[in-house]
Amino acid sequence: MSTQAHTPNHPHDPNCIFCKIVAGQIPSRKVHEDEDILAFHDIQPWAPVHFLVIPKRHIPSMAQIGPDDAALMGRIMTLIPRLAEEQGCNPYPDGGFRTVCNTGTEGGQEVHHLHVHVMGGPRPWSRG
Ligand code: AMP
Ligand code: ZN
Repeated sequence: MSTQAHTPNHPHDPNCIFCKIVAGQIPSRKVHEDEDILAFHDIQPWAPVHFLVIPKRHIPSMAQIGPDDAALMGRIMTLIPRLAEEQGCNPYPDGGFRTVCNTGTEGGQEVHHLHVHVMGGPRPWSRG
């Protein structure tokens, strides 16, 4: 078996751009990394702060998550306020941030590796 950056707990889709970012095959500007989660800046930001939070494991979208993913999804959501503040989002309630998780084509999803967008910073934004 070849040496891989991924354990069986982190199945990797060789055609997935975000799996390639997790594997370091495509560069990213990292915001956070731990064993299960990676956060990095979006290459086409809609807002002064715009980063993506992803599980390292290739889960195509929220349509595929189940009870076994509750802790992972909980960790992603609870990480976001701290990362948003660190990246320069202003404090709640006058500041804040937007979290978006597009699911499927009709849900506006283009990259089919689960990701949560986090957008914030002073208005106006380029989109959204
Ligand atoms: P979605 O439409 O929710 O699937 O969003 C995919 C997001 O991934 C878009 O906002 C893209 O700008 C972003 N994106 C695509 N490729 C990269 C990349 N190599 N590095 C960072 N962000 C990316
Ligand atoms: Zn992937």
